[in-house]
Amino acid sequence: MPTVPPLSDPACIFCKIIAGQIPCHRLYEDGQVLAFLDIGPLSRGHTLVIPKAHHATLDQMSDALASACAAVLPRLSRALIAATGVEAWNILQNNGATAGQVVPHVHFHIIPRTRGDGLGYRWPAGKLDPNDAASLVESIKRSL
Ligand SMILES: [Zn+2]
Repeated sequence: MPTVPPLSDPACIFCKIIAGQIPCHRLYEDGQVLAFLDIGPLSRGHTLVIPKAHHATLDQMSDALASACAAVLPRLSRALIAATGVEAWNILQNNGATAGQVVPHVHFHIIPRTRGDGLGYRWPAGKLDPNDAASLVESIKRSL
């Protein structure tokens, strides 16, 4: 299988980090994935895991590349637990500005949490309408 050169966007800050044009505190790197400390951390140890190929949002990635990113999450989580002493953390991945994505290059946040840290999110859970659920399942399955 031919190797596809990684996509890169010269205007993208994460692509510049990958290229070494902007420094970062590198935690992990392999052929497809880079992990580094977020320079605007929500908590101590806040880490970003990014694909080396530029993709704005998760849906643009191949299954294999998404798997490569996800594959390092358990190991990095264990290392962050060991290094920071936390017992809880969030994995957060935003797609699109409406969802809070600031840098349009796919990234997974690993955010160590401590009790009373003041971080949070609104989660106003509704109730799934069974009729809509059936329709939604059919519609989503058609697109898989
Ligand atoms: Zn990029």
